[in-house]
Amino acid sequence: MDFILATNNMKKLAEMQRILSPLGINVVTSKMLGIEIPDVEENGTTFEENAKIKAVSACEVTKMPSIADDSGLCVDYLDGAPGIYSARFSGGHGNDERNNDLLLEKLSGVPVEQRTAYYVCAICCVFPDGREITVRGECHGYIGFERDGSEGFGYDPLFIINGKAFGRYTAEEKDKISHRGNALRALTKELEKNI
Ligand code: IMP
Repeated sequence: MDFILATNNMKKLAEMQRILSPLGINVVTSKMLGIEIPDVEENGTTFEENAKIKAVSACEVTKMPSIADDSGLCVDYLDGAPGIYSARFSGGHGNDERNNDLLLEKLSGVPVEQRTAYYVCAICCVFPDGREITVRGECHGYIGFERDGSEGFGYDPLFIINGKAFGRYTAEEKDKISHRGNALRALTKELEKNI
């Protein structure tokens, strides 16, 4: 069965394909099918709301089961920021280097025990008949004092878990404990009941 993934991020597509293919689900982007999904405004106030906005829009346009995710980093010392604004923390969209610089700046002088943080990933799957599944995965660690490693993306060089930055995890190692991996495993369980 084909499911639309509402993203143009090929890394997310590969990750979803890897985890969902054992269920007989083939994940494709709308672009791969030649269907254009207009950009929707992600004006939700939670990860779950934003994932749903994207999944509903993709399902309305493609009339196919559609999956969307929304993810980000919540830093306790910053009262949960950057949260749903993780991609544009430093303004603009998706400048990882500037986002990491800003995070280090905001945590300058903050001791290790107050640098706790967690990644969140909400995934929403919407079916053309109106059924809807929303799941959430988290991954808890802390923010390091300097960048470490070049694997992953986003805040991974600064996010430390089990004594090592995500920037030094292989994709397979990260999948096993990551917020997205946890959310996808939760989604898998729900889909098994629904398809
Ligand atoms: P989005 O879910 O594609 O909107 O991503 C939100 C932002 O959260 C990304 O641009 C990254 O800055 C951050 N983020 C989400 N997941 C991860 C991750 O696994 N590693 C590093 N950064 C992440």
